[in-house]
Amino acid sequence: MDTINTSYILHHMHEDELPLNAVSPPVFQTSIFCFPNCKALGEAMQDDACHSFYSRGNNPTVNLAEEKIAALEGGERAKIVSSGMAAISHAVMAFVKAGDHVVCVEDCYGWTKTLLVSYLARFNVKVSFVEGTDTGEVIAALRPETRVLYLESPTSFTFKLQDLPAIAAEARKRNIKTIMDNTWATPIFCNPIKFGIDLVVHSASKYMSGASDIIAGAVIGSKDDIELIYRQEYLQLGPVPDPLMAWLMLRGLRTLHVRMKAHHEGALAVASFLEGHPGVERVFYPMLPSYTQITLARRLFSGASGLFSFKLRTKKPEEAIRFADTLRLFKRAVSWGGYESLVIPNAICYPNAADIPPDRVGLVRIHIGLERPEDLIADLEKALAAI
Ligand SMILES: *Cc1c(COP(=O)(O)O)cnc(C)c1O
Repeated sequence: MDTINTSYILHHMHEDELPLNAVSPPVFQTSIFCFPNCKALGEAMQDDACHSFYSRGNNPTVNLAEEKIAALEGGERAKIVSSGMAAISHAVMAFVKAGDHVVCVEDCYGWTKTLLVSYLARFNVKVSFVEGTDTGEVIAALRPETRVLYLESPTSFTFKLQDLPAIAAEARKRNIKTIMDNTWATPIFCNPIKFGIDLVVHSASKYMSGASDIIAGAVIGSKDDIELIYRQEYLQLGPVPDPLMAWLMLRGLRTLHVRMKAHHEGALAVASFLEGHPGVERVFYPMLPSYTQITLARRLFSGASGLFSFKLRTKKPEEAIRFADTLRLFKRAVSWGGYESLVIPNAICYPNAADIPPDRVGLVRIHIGLERPEDLIADLEKALAAI
């Protein structure tokens, strides 16, 4: 982890240009920008990807956050949008047309799957799913009409990793756009662009705010790719980030590197505890020394975040639910990435208990917040004893 560069970007990049020597950037809560004459307005409108004249396109508070996120990811440009799903849908839709094919990892974020399976089907775009852990399997799924290869490493709930450099190189040879959801690792621990991935997408609703107080997304890539997304999707579909949201994101970003280090340390301590507990069958935390893909994890990530899952030994969904209900410091909620610890048993994601796949009955996902790890471990110990 390049801490000097990271903290420079987060604390200082463009900050000495702020009006009135303000240390915190202003929230430009304005829909329009006025110009001294028509020539200046006309010029701004012609170069619309780079100028603020209407906040559906650009806004200085939003642009400041975009420049920092692009620099953090090592991309030329970034666009912030109103949710992680807006980032994902824009990145995918910009590079497919009727008749095209997409390859995606099986255990991707649930709404990503719905987008690819149900929404894109209306436009005659086909999708194939791969487990993703075997690069050969991924390559074999590529077809002549494949235009997008969508990755999420680690995958949602199951934490399976993909060999990003190997897959990106194969996709590049075939002129296929690679998109990677990097929400879990954040740009602090992983920079997919350095591994050859074309576009990185984020749900900024997670660690970028760090306070569970915004819904936002970001897409990062080359100048050409981001300007294509901007012109071809964003200006028409309009997932506009609010300037106040961008400001909250900037505030969150200032502490991102410090928080991520604490999430990593806390999660590693809790994952190690769970691994040694007789009530736990398996722990899925990529940075655990015993993890099946630990060698790949160490190549991809310089650290790991606070989100992971584990499998309780119980075969009864009601026991997994009682375990989650007994916890006191862990709150029961969706999402993650804030200062607080959270829990969600996978069983409650299925409307009927009969539909829960047998290997997911005892599967529980937790987010390790910024509480003292020893307090979280004591809480988990009590809840495990309640099963
Ligand atoms: C939450 C999440 C998303 C969706 O982000 P929103 O901001 O809720 O739209 C996408 N990918 C991953 C991995 C997520 O956890």
